Amino acid sequence: MSLEYHNDKLQFGGQDVTSLAGRFGTPLIIYDEVYLREMMRRYHAVLSSHVEHYSVSYASKAFTSLQMIQLLKEEDMEIDVVSSGELYTAIKGGMDPGRIKFHGNNKTREEIEFALSQGVNLFIIDSLDEILLLDSMADASVDVLLRVNPGVDVDTHEFISTGQTDSKFGLSISDGTALKAIMEIEKKDNLNFKGIHYHLGSQLSDPAPFVNALTAVYDWLHDHEIDIEILNMGGGFGVRYTDEDISFPVEEGFDEIFTRLKEVTSQYGFEMPHIIIEPGRSITAEAAVTVYEVGTVKEIPGVSRYVSVDGGMSDHIRTPLYGAEYDIIPVKKQTDDTGSISMNVVGKLCESGDIIGKDKSLPADTARGDLIAVKSTGAYHYSMASNYNQMLKPAVIFIAPDGVKEVIRRQTLDQLIQNDVRIEE
Ligand SMILES: *Cc1c(COP(=O)(O)O)cnc(C)c1O
Repeated sequence: MSLEYHNDKLQFGGQDVTSLAGRFGTPLIIYDEVYLREMMRRYHAVLSSHVEHYSVSYASKAFTSLQMIQLLKEEDMEIDVVSSGELYTAIKGGMDPGRIKFHGNNKTREEIEFALSQGVNLFIIDSLDEILLLDSMADASVDVLLRVNPGVDVDTHEFISTGQTDSKFGLSISDGTALKAIMEIEKKDNLNFKGIHYHLGSQLSDPAPFVNALTAVYDWLHDHEIDIEILNMGGGFGVRYTDEDISFPVEEGFDEIFTRLKEVTSQYGFEMPHIIIEPGRSITAEAAVTVYEVGTVKEIPGVSRYVSVDGGMSDHIRTPLYGAEYDIIPVKKQTDDTGSISMNVVGKLCESGDIIGKDKSLPADTARGDLIAVKSTGAYHYSMASNYNQMLKPAVIFIAPDGVKEVIRRQTLDQLIQNDVRIEE
């Protein structure tokens, strides 16, 4: 990420952060478009070096907007959606419906209807009941993948770990339900079984779970003589939220994954399937920073210092939700004579858990009116934003070589109440 100080002032993507905050207001989410494109190209490069047939399907829940879809199109990406809203955004952004995959453990009848009417033709089935529902609604053959649970344990936070046997996602390969589901799908006239999908969890920095899943899944495919055309191995490739984090080693990691895939397919005499991967956070997380303005600074003598900013859990929920850690830096560089001290950076919403970062080192003279930047906030920030305390969702801008683009305007007060109905007496 191109974040650096120039004459003691923070620059991002070559742009002065203070000027951007002045122009667009705070809180402000700033993406480096060059980084977004680079990540998309990196996945294309690595996959195309290993297999002939593949797709890189961005998990749009990480961050979506019309301009993000435009970028995905320009970079030859496909897209995952899990709701009518994500689908609508993708369609309105101009994504070809043939490149949209519909995921989710509880697709509603309305969502399926909407997706079919838009021409979406690849559904990832996540339950036995969905087989009946989708078959009854599709009038021509629809391609389906089955989401299976390979039962591999991953080393990540419980809330973002999904591949273990006790999970709301997928059907287990070990207890017979996944096999039963495939047999059901094969019986349906309107469903065309294409292959399997799994998503092991998120923020994985080690290729081992992916390698283990391949072994488990191919043993199972072989045991039951199931042929697949498509293998979707999910996303969850880890990123660096802080300097201590380790990101998924894309090139080396896929080297190991494809080595194993080639071994198991040739061992069992299977064809190499069309490979799908679904990176979300690894495309967007490190592409963005969020800039806040400092307001109240409260000193609890001998205990701690609280620095309050003009946003909080309405645009930064991952820390309150599961203790996610971020690096926070001042927009005006630390000068040697003030020194830095540890403080808690908190939001302005009415919850004690509304914390952006505990014990963060910031300049001792941090005061009202100063700006701070929270790094790696490009995934699951804007997309998880809420209007709690009637806070407005922030503006989002992209920095590109051809200039600064406002891609999502700051929400307005009128928009906050636009659906409210006041019943007159
Ligand atoms: C969330 C999700 C992803 C993306 O996860 P990241 O950690 O953002 O890469 C991919 N596939 C599925 C099915 C998901 O649910």
